[in-house]
Amino acid sequence: MLSISSSLTEDSLKRKPKRKKRKNNFQHLCCVFLSPSIMNSCQVCAEPTKNNCSNCNQVSYCSVQHQKQDWKSHKPNCHPYKIAHNEVLGRHLVATRNIKPYEIILKEAPLVRGPAQISAPVCMGCLNSIEPTDHIECEQCGWPLCGPECKSLDEHRAECKLTKDRGQKVNVQEFQGPHPLYTCVSTVRCLLLGETNAANAKKFSDLESLESTRRGSSQWKADLTSIGQFIPKFFKTQKFSEEEIMRTVGALQINGHEVPTSDPPHVAVFYVASFTENSCLPNLAKSFNKHGHCILWAPQAIKKNSHLSICYSDAIWGTSDRQRHLMQTKLFKCACLRCQDPTELGTNYSAIKCEDRKCSGLMLPTKADDWHGGWQCKECGKQVPKQYVEGILERAGQDIQSMEKTIENGFKYLKHYERWLPSQHFHMSEIKILLVQIIAKDQQELMVVSDERLQLKLKFARELVELYETITPCEVRTLGTLCFELHSAIAENTRRIALETTLSPTEMLNESLMYVDKCVNYLQYESDIFVEGHILKQAKINRDALRMVMRIC
Ligand SMILES: [Zn+2]
Ligand SMILES: [Zn+2]
Ligand SMILES: [Zn+2]
Ligand SMILES: [Zn+2]
Ligand SMILES: [Zn+2]
Ligand SMILES: [Zn+2]
Repeated sequence: MLSISSSLTEDSLKRKPKRKKRKNNFQHLCCVFLSPSIMNSCQVCAEPTKNNCSNCNQVSYCSVQHQKQDWKSHKPNCHPYKIAHNEVLGRHLVATRNIKPYEIILKEAPLVRGPAQISAPVCMGCLNSIEPTDHIECEQCGWPLCGPECKSLDEHRAECKLTKDRGQKVNVQEFQGPHPLYTCVSTVRCLLLGETNAANAKKFSDLESLESTRRGSSQWKADLTSIGQFIPKFFKTQKFSEEEIMRTVGALQINGHEVPTSDPPHVAVFYVASFTENSCLPNLAKSFNKHGHCILWAPQAIKKNSHLSICYSDAIWGTSDRQRHLMQTKLFKCACLRCQDPTELGTNYSAIKCEDRKCSGLMLPTKADDWHGGWQCKECGKQVPKQYVEGILERAGQDIQSMEKTIENGFKYLKHYERWLPSQHFHMSEIKILLVQIIAKDQQELMVVSDERLQLKLKFARELVELYETITPCEVRTLGTLCFELHSAIAENTRRIALETTLSPTEMLNESLMYVDKCVNYLQYESDIFVEGHILKQAKINRDALRMVMRIC
């Protein structure tokens, strides 16, 4: 009998043994010579040659000997992209060769990292939240640390020295909710980067701050009070001009990534990753290893000369929410393929049902690129003001926020909102994601869950995988998790059918195997400090078990 577990076993929660780091030497050199058409000159001897480095396709060598000789100096620049520049995009990344599915494009340590601008007190070493009753204070500066092991982390040196120079330790007493002192910490770290890491400081100063666009906005004014004027006053220092501080705040906001390796997530700035352009239908996925390094990789093949992109917003959100978020945080209006198409590739992910109950049409913005104007039915032409749409969406969003996340409430929500929202709407989809995860959430529950609920879990999971593979194929954590749930529901369904009939379950098991394979592919770079990393581990165990069963069948 099959035993496919969707639970995270004890074993999967244990830490993985450290694998020996493989030395990446001349691994790709054996297949170095492509068959290029243009004549270049050898990087070492300048002899004319047609042979390019196969990994980056950007330098040429006359022979393997000369390539080996040059490898040490070429290695840091050997990657399958180049930084290009144009008027509209500024700097951006372009693929220099065809990229295969699952290839890592870039692995990068942060230039600088620190607490989010709105943050409850966190440890100044590891950036995890502080236990009010169980922490220490840095003897030098008074900032909270979770323990002595976090004292010597390099990153704390910036605010530690600045606080010492102030002549008075900080005193953090309130641990619940956002703390105003923390608002400026990451900016301080960026400002003092020159003293802690000169090379990183130089790269940081190279990044866009959009200071002239930000200046005068309400966010800019708030930042001026809480950071720009606060730093000189609080730290009693004339070291930084107001302009310098505000430029740094801008660079941090424009280029900062939320990194989930700490709890709460922290902010980090990556250099090359900052040049990756935004798309709500990107071709790269972003993962983080347990050290908080950023990994950009290709869930699908990418053609040579394509622009490389990530989603700066949350690709799971509807278009109006993504656009508002991008405008607020990154100060631009997105014009990617998905944003240009109000139906979001035919999924109608943001559409609502026609106000006229007798009409079966869907309503979308009257003007394709204006989500804040009136809406119109595509079928009967009926128009509604934006207040009508906003009213429905606000209520639907708030109900999710305040809902106790139970199976019954999930079904109630779907039943209630089907009057206004089509089945693939982002709010409906959010509830279905929840249901797929909480209906039969482990192996024991899966074995005894009613047929009706098992079928619903199957149906929703199938719908969602199809939907998100269309509009967010690089949203690998959501897709991986859904594929895992789908594969285990299919396996359980197969078990039930096999008990009642003599039908061969091979086809169904094949489908289960296909989804668990997909899950492993989607989650392959997830660290085991994340839930997804544990799912990955279990998925590999299930995959191997399934393969074994298939061999016997
Ligand atoms: Zn040569
Ligand atoms: Zn190369
Ligand atoms: Zn710590
Ligand atoms: Zn300190
Ligand atoms: Zn977009
Ligand atoms: Zn209509």
